[in-house]
Amino acid sequence: MGLVELNDFSITPAGGHQKDGAVGLVMANLSELVGWGRKYSLHPLLFGLACCAIEQISAGMSRFDISRFGAEVFRASPRQSDLIIISGRVSNKMAPVVRRLYDQMLEPKWVIAMGDCASCGGPFNNYAIIQGVDKIIPVDVYVPGCPPRPEALFYAILRLQQKVQKFGIGEREG
Ligand code: SF4
Repeated sequence: MGLVELNDFSITPAGGHQKDGAVGLVMANLSELVGWGRKYSLHPLLFGLACCAIEQISAGMSRFDISRFGAEVFRASPRQSDLIIISGRVSNKMAPVVRRLYDQMLEPKWVIAMGDCASCGGPFNNYAIIQGVDKIIPVDVYVPGCPPRPEALFYAILRLQQKVQKFGIGEREG
């Protein structure tokens, strides 16, 4: 779990707080607390589609270390995942599979479209490729690039974490 960012909360210390290392009593909005916990415990699905997936894999390696952002526990089952990173082009043949994986994921669930192909079809403007994965599932963050570097994926995760924090214990529509 990442460091506590006090800006995430409207914290109200109760009683006289002393700088003695003790946590003390802290009162906070429940939705903010849940959002804070969720944003630092994203569980991405172990899933990749094309060349962008190589950069996604690199993001998990020691040189880049995705665990610094609390999103390193890739799960092999969509039933244990709340984030899917669409890293690569989505063919018409693959689209039903992507949709099924998304449907099987936990709520609330999140989607990052990594790279030009996932975002808009990229260089593959032809009958075989879906022109953006948002044609079949809702996308929360788009990452431009062909391929985007791992740092770009990290920036997307940071933006997604802002969204998750804001979402709190809300309910998604649709
Ligand atoms: S955006 Fe570029 S690197 Fe990513 S899947 Fe498409 S062609 Fe490959």
